[in-house]
Amino acid sequence: MDTIGERWQAVRSRIETAALAAGRTPGSVHLLAVSKAHTASELRKVYAAGQRKFGENYLQEALDKQQELQELDIEWHFIGPIQSNKTQPIARHFDWVHSVDRSKIADRLNAARSMELPRLQVCIQVNISEETSKSGIAIQDVMALAAYIQQLPRLQLRGLMTIPAPTTDPMQQQAQFHAVRQIYNQLLAQGYALDTLSMGMSEDFPAAILEGATIVRVGSAIFGPRIKSTVE
Ligand SMILES: *Cc1c(COP(=O)(O)O)cnc(C)c1O
Repeated sequence: MDTIGERWQAVRSRIETAALAAGRTPGSVHLLAVSKAHTASELRKVYAAGQRKFGENYLQEALDKQQELQELDIEWHFIGPIQSNKTQPIARHFDWVHSVDRSKIADRLNAARSMELPRLQVCIQVNISEETSKSGIAIQDVMALAAYIQQLPRLQLRGLMTIPAPTTDPMQQQAQFHAVRQIYNQLLAQGYALDTLSMGMSEDFPAAILEGATIVRVGSAIFGPRIKSTVE
């Protein structure tokens, strides 16, 4: 079986291939290594291969790993569902939050973000498959939430994130990413200074890159299978 470092390298090459096929420069697509359900020592191996951005879904699990990996220069991204009573530690211990989907959460993250830290980098999570997911805001409500976040001084709105309905049909994958890209383009047209489309996971990142993804969030293709399914 391949080592973690080899799988990481293979994902990197697939990203590069997909970017070139889409007529994009490979450097325009960033890899977020999704490490939920994997140990600090596994993160260390991916870090040693050269990875610096890591994504976690569960607060306590993430805080434990951050503690263990303190001396490493890691950029931490929170990508899981956010309960309002967890906003303070999330605002304190992460560089990015991809899963902002309501104004109350945005408010609380803004209030909790220390002045000593840079602004918290955030994405709005868009729900494009309302029947299969409960996380994320409906497409028709994205504009209002973007306007709301824009006036919060401790948050910097970077773009949109989505988790599409699972499907192995590349056309269907692409159609869902396309829908999110269209709202993203509308926001750009309205003058929002955005640079991030966080979409694509192990099974569908090439389709996401074709539709303009700038961050792909890849877990199992790097770390191997998780014991239980923890995608939300
Ligand atoms: C788990 C998870 C991923 C990674 O999923 P894989 O299929 O393991 O690549 C990406 N994004 C979110 C929000 C997740 O919860």
